[in-house]
Amino acid sequence: MAKALEYNATMVERVDVTDALTMFRVQPDQPPAPGWFVPGQYCVIGMNNAAKPELGSVRRSMSIASAPEDAGPTEFYIRFVSKPESENPLTHLLWKLKNGDRMYMRPVAAGVFTVKDSVPADDTRIRVMVAAGTGSAPFVSMIKSELRRDPTADLSKWCLLHGASYPADLGYRDELMRLTETNKLHYYGTVSRPKDTDWRSDVGRVEAFFEPARLAELERRLGLPPGGFNPKNVVIFICGLTGTITGTIIPLIDRAFIPDFKRIREALGVPTDAPNSVFYEQYDTEPVIDVKNPVVVEPLRERMTAALAKFSS
Ligand SMILES: Cc1cc2nc3c(=O)[nH]c(=O)nc-3n(C[C@H](O)[C@H](O)[C@H](O)COP(=O)(O)OP(=O)(O)OC[C@H]3O[C@@H](n4cnc5c(N)ncnc54)[C@H](O)[C@@H]3O)c2cc1C
Repeated sequence: MAKALEYNATMVERVDVTDALTMFRVQPDQPPAPGWFVPGQYCVIGMNNAAKPELGSVRRSMSIASAPEDAGPTEFYIRFVSKPESENPLTHLLWKLKNGDRMYMRPVAAGVFTVKDSVPADDTRIRVMVAAGTGSAPFVSMIKSELRRDPTADLSKWCLLHGASYPADLGYRDELMRLTETNKLHYYGTVSRPKDTDWRSDVGRVEAFFEPARLAELERRLGLPPGGFNPKNVVIFICGLTGTITGTIIPLIDRAFIPDFKRIREALGVPTDAPNSVFYEQYDTEPVIDVKNPVVVEPLRERMTAALAKFSS
């Protein structure tokens, strides 16, 4: 049993997007120094199980959805996990919280899922951010941070593709849509279960944007020439559960996108000097590609070899 946490923060506000998706705003008692995290990083939050003290405490990593330039509370965008794996799931304790309730937040950021840890400072490629569900949190932080530093920032090199089951699950949609008008952000929400809604936009899972038949349309939206969606012009960031990461990485092998994961690079026969062009943050622990299974790896390796030959010339 994990020992009791000493609460050091207050959940000052919750915004329920749906019954299972909530933005939690958490104010640590000792406000961390400005710039204590880089957009894309996460920190650990936790709770004691007050109703069942015998279960002790639970802590989980959560991406930070606010901007480091924000003076107020730290924001997290969290899904209630209806089929948890642990016997003391954090999300079940968080969902009981009311504004003003106490909790634990470790005001120390971790992780290298940041632009500065991924691409050179002078990189001018389009940043395509791929998220399903709450995987949008780090990208929301990145976008907010750009705006806090310059409200008129040109976001035409930023593209957020966000997938959800229903239109109402697309948290942050209104403010992101506004930025498409004011700051030229490319933002495309896509919904896999549009039935019985008035949804008139993209349909399907977020990784469907990368199906061969649909890539041409994405290229058009991003102002790229046919075939231009490749690592010379685009760098990919993915965040969420394995399905989204695998479903994005695999079709993009044919465009020579190289995942930033040593064992996958090796399995796909990527030359050691070829730069990474797909970076991801994974919320669960399933393998993204079963690198030990030749039936899985061999065809992917052939596709990567062909793509590298095609797109490196
Ligand atoms: C670096 C990092 C950052 C994370 N950031 C976020 C975040 O910003 N928002 C967030 O909601 N979660 C995030 N997570 C997941 C989070 O840490 C927990 O795993 C999740 O909240 C479930 O915890 P639990 O104790 O309630 O359930 P557990 O008993 O730990 O249940 C684990 C199960 O939950 C599933 N799961 C985990 N995360 C999600 C999710 N987001 N949506 C649907 N199913 C999920 C896993 O597949 C697994 O089957 C992050 C994970 C990591 C490693």
